[in-house]
Amino acid sequence: MKRVASIAAALALACTAVAMFTGSLLAQAEGTVYDACSRDKQEVRAAALPEVLDEEKCPVAGRVIVDGDIGAVVPEPGMAVIAEAESSDGHQYLSVSNPRGGKLLIDGAGREPRPEAASGISARASGPGECRDSFYSSRDAKVYNYNRWYVNGRSIPSYLSKFRAVSAMKQGAANVTRVRDACGFGDGVRGRMIYEGATRSSVNITSNLNCTSNDYRSEVGFGDLPSSYTAFHCAWVWPKSGAPDRVAHTDIRLNKFDYRWTARVTSSCRGRQDIESSMTHERGHTFGLGEAPEGSHGNLTMSNLTNGPCQTSERSLGKGDAMGLNRKY
Ligand SMILES: [Zn+2]
Repeated sequence: MKRVASIAAALALACTAVAMFTGSLLAQAEGTVYDACSRDKQEVRAAALPEVLDEEKCPVAGRVIVDGDIGAVVPEPGMAVIAEAESSDGHQYLSVSNPRGGKLLIDGAGREPRPEAASGISARASGPGECRDSFYSSRDAKVYNYNRWYVNGRSIPSYLSKFRAVSAMKQGAANVTRVRDACGFGDGVRGRMIYEGATRSSVNITSNLNCTSNDYRSEVGFGDLPSSYTAFHCAWVWPKSGAPDRVAHTDIRLNKFDYRWTARVTSSCRGRQDIESSMTHERGHTFGLGEAPEGSHGNLTMSNLTNGPCQTSERSLGKGDAMGLNRKY
């Protein structure tokens, strides 16, 4: 579902004046804003907004648009934010685009269906084999050249080797940028990920699944998410017309409060999620792939559930994952 909201051109042009805009909201007379947007609500429910949104009745700059369980702070004019969440209760997706010139676009409003056989993290995938399933979905975004990224080293759980955890994250990125698959597809991806090292700053993601304000730095970290969510991906992109939006920054949080992780799946592995597998899926989002439905395409890396703990099948891409990437690039 798509909702279109207009934003005053003057405000849209005032790209550095978010604080001033927020101040002007306080001057608005009570009773002139929609209930869903009233000033006492920091969050604005996407599903409660009218199709065409009068900006004077719904001042959204700097506030959180919420869709189902996930949300995103309205980005600065000239940017969009795309949120993707992996859950045993079904995939969640939200895009909030704030292009210069006056139209705010909210895509993905409403809860996505639960996967057909959702009962915790499934141990078995359903659907065609990974080399026979050509399904993919594509977001209108891509990495044009490269995306520099950092890891919040302090967020890595103490039971993991930091070196191995970061190596698994890097390998997950390489699995996408090199189109590493078990089916013999070539690598048509021209964008690259460049690892820049450790950082002390945190991902711009909250424990209640919001993409917060972009800090212009791409980061990966472990942290808290609601219990059914293993991972959350936020991408800030520059909208382009006539071509996929340009990915600017991406943040990823892996849930360490409800899941235990490993960088090495060995015979002694018990109940741990594979970092490289999850990071391969998340980097698929970074490079502009959307979700594949778990119930009918469960063997693809871009299906939203992992194939279970202590296994690595989703490190390598499936046919649809590889086709989706190669066609985009
Ligand atoms: Zn996903």
